[in-house]
Amino acid sequence: MKTPNQYLASLPTTIFTIMSQLAVKHGAINLGQGFPDTEGPQDIIQVAEEALRDGRNQYAPLTGLPELREAVAASNRRFYGLEVDPATEVVVTSGATEALAACLMAVVEPGDEVVVIEPLYDTYLPALKLLGAVPRCVRLAPPHWSVPEAELRAAFGPKTKAIMLNSPMNPSGKVFVREELELIAELVREHDAYAICDEVYEHLTFHVKHLPLMTLPGMRERCMRIGSAGKSFSLTGWKVGYVTAPAALASVVAKAHQVMVFATAPNLQRAVAYGLNKDDSYYQGLSTQMKTQRDLLRDGLHRLGFETLPADGSYFIVADISRHAAGRNDVEFARWLVEHAGVATIPVSAFYDPQGDAAPQNLIRFAFCKKPEILQEALKRLEKALS
Ligand code: PMP
Ligand code: GLN
Repeated sequence: MKTPNQYLASLPTTIFTIMSQLAVKHGAINLGQGFPDTEGPQDIIQVAEEALRDGRNQYAPLTGLPELREAVAASNRRFYGLEVDPATEVVVTSGATEALAACLMAVVEPGDEVVVIEPLYDTYLPALKLLGAVPRCVRLAPPHWSVPEAELRAAFGPKTKAIMLNSPMNPSGKVFVREELELIAELVREHDAYAICDEVYEHLTFHVKHLPLMTLPGMRERCMRIGSAGKSFSLTGWKVGYVTAPAALASVVAKAHQVMVFATAPNLQRAVAYGLNKDDSYYQGLSTQMKTQRDLLRDGLHRLGFETLPADGSYFIVADISRHAAGRNDVEFARWLVEHAGVATIPVSAFYDPQGDAAPQNLIRFAFCKKPEILQEALKRLEKALS
């Protein structure tokens, strides 16, 4: 028999699934895969429930329900002063994961180079490679994750079609600041490239406000900005994402969506539209709550002798395991923790190109989108196992 696609066949199961399965097996607290342990807002869920009963359960429009596209446009205006035409510049997708693939499909041809920044989210490289694009990885170095200007410049060239930028960034918790974005914008303009901006954690920042690359000069027509209801409303299972892009690009993103999914669940779209229109206090409440949980976990990890890296956004914090690992690398230590401490985490080396230079092996990621009492219990378990 002829072989199936060799690249996909050789791709390991995602580390998020592996660690979640181990968490179940060992009865561990799951601070690995990033999902909140509380339901999203009840009023949003209520709207979804009611929307199932109002006779609109057939295919939604290809680019999304008008009320959701309008809500996406309105939140672009409210939070970032971006004027967006809901009819032509918004595409609703089945999660940011689909949005990322659709945006890539919309711009890359086989052989095009795409600049990506490590540590990177686990779907970026496979999606790129399946399209025949060539990744050009630039590494941010811990503990500060600052952008290496010379290396970034060198990664851009005549074949560069796009850069993928994740800010706030998973797993590092880094929020790109204006200066860094200006450098990226300069390179994108200079090389006549596009930017695929993964901004799923846009509302989860704790110190500096999130700044979309799209708001910088010359970037409005080159950026595809991706949001996720899963992250903004703590409803990760819903898989509703949205792309904001100039009409010329959005229409091509819509074609990719047409080929892969066509339309996203209408009741969930209705509820997400309602959610996006919630007042500012909802969004402030979400980030305040996450910050409280981050502080709780970070301070607890410090008491246990872990150094942590700055976590300014997303719901992840990275800890250095050197003091406790006793010679184990991050993968071995994460496995040991889930088995012996009953706490699941994610080894940060999973966020690096497996074909690239050796990844750091002394870092693990904790998710803090969990109830304070659960974080306390996890800290107690860690203390017991490490003492
Ligand atoms: N990008 C990043 C950086 C993420 O952390 C996630 C969360 N899993 C996604 C994209 C995918 O989001 P969604 O669940 O909406 O597909
Ligand atoms: N984005 C989530 C994380 O980083 C996981 C998503 C997934 O399991 N695919 O933990």
